[in-house]
Amino acid sequence: MSQNKLIVSNWKMNLNIKNSIKIITNITNLNLPRLRNCKNIICPQFLLIPKISEIIKDKDITLGSQDCHYEEKGAFTGDSSIEMIKSFNCKYSIIGHSERRQYYNESNENIYKKASQLQKNKLIPIICIGESLDQRKTHTYLNVLSKQIIECIPKELKDIVIAYEPIWSIGTGITPSSNEILEVISFVKNFLKENKYSHKSSILYGGSVNSANIDSIIRISRADGVLIGGASINANEINKILSYFYFN
Ligand code: PEP
Repeated sequence: MSQNKLIVSNWKMNLNIKNSIKIITNITNLNLPRLRNCKNIICPQFLLIPKISEIIKDKDITLGSQDCHYEEKGAFTGDSSIEMIKSFNCKYSIIGHSERRQYYNESNENIYKKASQLQKNKLIPIICIGESLDQRKTHTYLNVLSKQIIECIPKELKDIVIAYEPIWSIGTGITPSSNEILEVISFVKNFLKENKYSHKSSILYGGSVNSANIDSIIRISRADGVLIGGASINANEINKILSYFYFN
């Protein structure tokens, strides 16, 4: 693998302490080589972060959170501050995931504030964007994506990680064709360039990634990595996906 690749596991709210230790032990047993161009990023549910942080202390695994709050502290019941996330050595935070947009009315404005705060605290936001099935069918998806980029990403952000996640692909087993992913990845890369965003950007693909489709997605789409939900909590699947990146 010559270019830099990010492999991001989003465990969502799927694992308990016992299962999460099993998955992480399984990954550490793979003995992946330390590679400068591959970054294995695990995003556990908040309550798992302290334990996982301790287990991976000396390993080449990077920790991220699944969300964060944009305020330093305050009356925000149920939320977690960036300071707390950082204190457990998280380097990344997923923001704007479609599940948070759908179930918690997460707005582009909030995502923008979160991205700014993360940068201020030297964490890297993984900003999720993606269209609905209806927007795909009516061919308005590129407009939808550019609006999300403009409204969610501060121009001064230095290290941009965008995860293109078509909503209709998340958890459904349906993926766009590799050429359709290529179209969006190329569009986003050009959009960032033309609109003078930071040069340092990685565009990931997310949505029903598994060990069977990883090769065609990565080879054809020009994606700088993947955001993985379901397959990231299946030991066999995540082993194969990580091995694909690290041993190819
Ligand atoms: C996700 O939720 O970010 C995701 C990509 O999920 P899945 O891989 O299960 O489609």
